[in-house]
Amino acid sequence: MAYSYEAPVSQSLFDRASVVTPGGVNSPVRAFRAVGGTPRFMVSGTGPYLTDADGREYVDLVCSWGPMILGHSHPEVIAAVQDAVSRGTSFGTPGEGEVALAEEIVARIEPVEQVRLVSSGTEATMSAIRLARGFTGRAKVVKFAGCYHGHVDALLAAAGSGVATFGLPDTPGVTGATAGDTVVLPYNDLDAVRAAFAAHPGEIACVITEASPGNMGVVPPAEGFNAGLKELCAANGALYISDEVMTGFRTSKAGWYGVDGVRPDLMTFGKVMGGGFPAAAFGGRGDVMAHLAPAGPVYQAGTLSGNPIATAAGLAQLRLLDDAAYAKIDAVSAELRSLVGDALGKEGVAHTVSAASNMFSVFFTDQPVRDYEDAKKQDVFRFTAFFHSMLEQGVYLPPSAFESWFVSTAHDERAVERIAAALPAAARAASEATA
Ligand code: PLP
Repeated sequence: MAYSYEAPVSQSLFDRASVVTPGGVNSPVRAFRAVGGTPRFMVSGTGPYLTDADGREYVDLVCSWGPMILGHSHPEVIAAVQDAVSRGTSFGTPGEGEVALAEEIVARIEPVEQVRLVSSGTEATMSAIRLARGFTGRAKVVKFAGCYHGHVDALLAAAGSGVATFGLPDTPGVTGATAGDTVVLPYNDLDAVRAAFAAHPGEIACVITEASPGNMGVVPPAEGFNAGLKELCAANGALYISDEVMTGFRTSKAGWYGVDGVRPDLMTFGKVMGGGFPAAAFGGRGDVMAHLAPAGPVYQAGTLSGNPIATAAGLAQLRLLDDAAYAKIDAVSAELRSLVGDALGKEGVAHTVSAASNMFSVFFTDQPVRDYEDAKKQDVFRFTAFFHSMLEQGVYLPPSAFESWFVSTAHDERAVERIAAALPAAARAASEATA
């Protein structure tokens, strides 16, 4: 595909990066391989806008893959960071900021009785699984195809996100022994979970699921699916782990738990709770968390865990996320969904706008999408054309058809108008695209 627009400064940065960094990026999906073209190197962000190294401004519908729920450079978050940084950057001791952030999480999310702070979502899910195995004395982990839980070895089987983007069935470097303890099942299929428990009696430590998946595109749980998982886990002595790294503090004040009320044994968080800094967490039942070192025998640690700047940013962001903030995000999301659906409909493009609370994505198919197999049946080439038309017109979408779109409280009328103005041409490009 040829592009009628150029990004010479980004391209020269990408060329430099490609010499010193594999593929030129520090996280694969940033390389634009699924859509082609030059990845944009961003230099600044304000509110709903990002500016790239060529000086072009974009309305940002990625929001750093979720964290920037108040938009970029929110003055109160920046002030909290500046205040924290003026007192030092890391102490390697306990500090009040991490206590306050943990208290905020525990106060918001009722099933979380205790929480441990870490630095990435990957660390959170990896640690939660270790804890589940340590607590139950069992080895096997059930996960669902298309759900991404970070690049944890045991969870890189049939994962979504970048793994979905590249269609990798697996990754070299994960040993057969590790993968052998992972049972991968189709999403939204309780019968498959029942069968797995029957096939491995007394062996399954936990079932981990995205609370509402956003890494194969947005595919919400079918009515009763999460509740069924919880029930099956309880009946079989396994722990139910809800991965809220993406949905946490985004889909409601209490994340997806605030939407479906199904009580997990353990939960994982990241993204929004760090305010754009590396902060993540796992937490849940007090009796399970009590098994974690130094209270218990299951080891887990981190030099920068509970970092004072990250916790200050996260706390400032969470404190600004009140009911009014969520109402605003929900409204902007609903408006964009309807604008996108109308534009694609007008051009006769087969599509499904799939939403889970304010998270949404567009599948280029009119067939229902209930799991990863369904998601893969979409016309990805139409997304590619749509993406590049939007980019050219100054709207930054996730560079993959298998990712959620994110909005923020900063997406105001002007930002929405700019998106609306770009949609007709993008829908036309999608309709004219060929495989
Ligand atoms: N879990 C989910 C649901 C995610 O969406 C992600 C990242 O996108 C992760 C875990 C991993 O988080 P991180 O990229 O911070 O390691």
